[in-house]
Amino acid sequence: MRIYADNAATTKMSQRAIQAMLPYLDQIYGNPSSLHTEGQQAAEALANARARIAARLGCSPREITFTSGGSEADNQAILSAAKMGERKGKKHIISTAFEHHAVLHTLQALEKQGFEVTLLDVHEDGMVSAQQVEQAIRPDTCLVTVMYANNEVGSVQPIAEIGRVCRQAGVIFHTDAVQAVGHLPVHVERDNVDMLSLSGHKFHGPKGIGALYVRRGIALQNLIYGGAQERGKRAGTENIPAAVGMAEALDEAWEGMEEHMRHLVMMRERLIEGLSQIPHCALNGHRDQRLPGNVSFCFEGIEGESLLLLLDDKGIAASSGSACTSGSLDPSHVLLALGRPHEVAHGSLRLSLSAENTMEEVEYMIAAITEVVGYLRSISPVWRDLELGKKEFVLK
Ligand SMILES: *Cc1c(COP(=O)(O)O)cnc(C)c1O
Repeated sequence: MRIYADNAATTKMSQRAIQAMLPYLDQIYGNPSSLHTEGQQAAEALANARARIAARLGCSPREITFTSGGSEADNQAILSAAKMGERKGKKHIISTAFEHHAVLHTLQALEKQGFEVTLLDVHEDGMVSAQQVEQAIRPDTCLVTVMYANNEVGSVQPIAEIGRVCRQAGVIFHTDAVQAVGHLPVHVERDNVDMLSLSGHKFHGPKGIGALYVRRGIALQNLIYGGAQERGKRAGTENIPAAVGMAEALDEAWEGMEEHMRHLVMMRERLIEGLSQIPHCALNGHRDQRLPGNVSFCFEGIEGESLLLLLDDKGIAASSGSACTSGSLDPSHVLLALGRPHEVAHGSLRLSLSAENTMEEVEYMIAAITEVVGYLRSISPVWRDLELGKKEFVLK
């Protein structure tokens, strides 16, 4: 038996999305730029996918640009706003310390080009306030970019309020909504956003496709030069099957959203309750303002990597906050931004659920995690020091 609890990393494609894509792989395979019937059928499919996505987000199809995913959308949004700002002599950008690397590393690249970046502190509950944004805005601020919901700790930000503050100040507001779209009723008008990134594979659509919403009147810069696809803003033959699959997955996610939210919140609450029984642990992120399927904990005295490997042996696919991808064992920048000390941030666990998970799986996970944390502590020298009082516990 396998339990997949890593849906913030990526999701399984829905059958509906797969079925919707199939005709565009073998029957309707034309290039939308071609004038013949096959090409025009493909162009129609692309227009249809764009219209469906726009309808869900509450914008016009002309305001949607397809990209290769969330990372590209984030890059294009930020670099475009920076370019526009630079022309007016505005080279200050506001963001937060716990953004996805697609945002943070783009900002670092801009810093090397002379932009000044203010990264707002994140409160220990995983929240950033509109007031913080308001206080950081300067006459030379050209962009505010704050994520809709954090991918590690799940906290959902007050996007509409932040958007209102930005609009009043006349500053472009971008949000990385990759974790929110398909899970929360995101709406670009209600949320007062000017630019918004989304990614198909985070809501049961295909990988390698995303979109960027850009409010009319804001000039998008292209990152990829070539043909005139996407109104000249993103060259390259369009990925029709993926666009169709993403549109179908988004419709499906929206139709089931309320029911899924109820089921996810029930599982999330039981997990939080069950895991809170483990001594010396803490929930990461806001208690209530969090993604319906996100559970994130720190357990003192253990290594997240060991926990993940033992859970994998028990059939559970989970994630830790630690970014060990680059070979370094640096703890997650998100947990550090929330003020978790290094030694605590190392013992993190993220469970991100989908509507396919069950309460039986939740009960199994609580039992398995409780057992594995207990085992790892029993063999941990750090834990022994804590128990002997040689070191102070950080978590109650
Ligand atoms: C996954 C993710 C991205 C990157 O999206 P890709 O489509 O994988 O490039 C960006 N931001 C957040 C918050 C994410 O969770």
